[in-house]
This record gives sequence, C-alpha cells and structure tokens, in this order.
Amino acid sequence: MIRRARSDIHGHGVYARVAIPAGYVLIEYRGERITKAESARREARRLDLVRRGRDISTMSFRLNQRYDIDGRRHGNLSRYINHSCAPNCRADKRRGRIWIVTARDIAEGEEISFDYGFRFRHWASNPCRCGAPGCPGFIVEASQRWRLRQAIRTRAT
Ligand SMILES: [Zn+2]
Repeated sequence: MIRRARSDIHGHGVYARVAIPAGYVLIEYRGERITKAESARREARRLDLVRRGRDISTMSFRLNQRYDIDGRRHGNLSRYINHSCAPNCRADKRRGRIWIVTARDIAEGEEISFDYGFRFRHWASNPCRCGAPGCPGFIVEASQRWRLRQAIRTRAT
C-alpha cells in the first residue's frame, strides 16, 4: 500500500501506491522504546552531528510522560514518513503504541506525512522544508506555531 522513495520534502519519504481512504490505519510507528533520559542523550548527540554539518532528522517521538519511541532502531517503513505542517495523516497513540492513520483521502502517488508535533522549546533545531502554505519554517506542534512565529519575528529584529 505504501513504499519508500526519494522525497521532495527531505531525504526519503513514503508514498501511497494506491488511493487510500480517510481513517485508514496505514502502519504502526515502530521502534525502540526508550526513557526520556535516553531520548535526551540521543537528541544531544544528533544535534552535535548536525552542528558538524551532518543532515540527520529526528526519529524519536513522544509516546507518553515516561517513554519515547526511536524509529532508528527496530523501526519499519514508518520512520521514513516526513513531517508536514499540512499533513494527510495523524499519529494516534493507543495503549502504548503509535499508529499512523490517514486524516483524509489520499491519492495514488501522494507523499504520506504527519505532524511530528515537536515541543516549542526545540524549534530551532528542527527546520521544516515541507513547503505547505503557512509553514513557519520549523517543526513545531500546530497549537504552538503562533509562538514560533512570534519568536522568529523577535529574533529577526
Ligand atoms: Zn512545514
């Protein structure tokens, strides 16, 4: 139903092989379940490599208060799904697992995306290239994008 290919957004992406209706459970976001402390340690290491010019995307997602899921280990195709500020899927958390579900009808060949929903405080280290109208240029959960726009304006002046 979905396949990996070079993406217009970033690196590799995941694409619909066929038309898929809204509300369809596409795939589980699988990976290693890690503690918040381990997640912070891995993120610090990633940012260190990014500062040295490597292009490495975050593949860790908040599961709950205690754990994150890191798709780089024990992950599946879902780890290649890009973020979009106008996504066609959403991440549903149910009983300690994360499922990627279509949020609307998806056409054959369309790139699959969901909102990574990163916390506001990490905005500067997660640039966004999704190209959606109204994309603020960084990956931040939708409810916090107004704060991001404010922060960018303040920094520019
Ligand atoms: Zn964006």
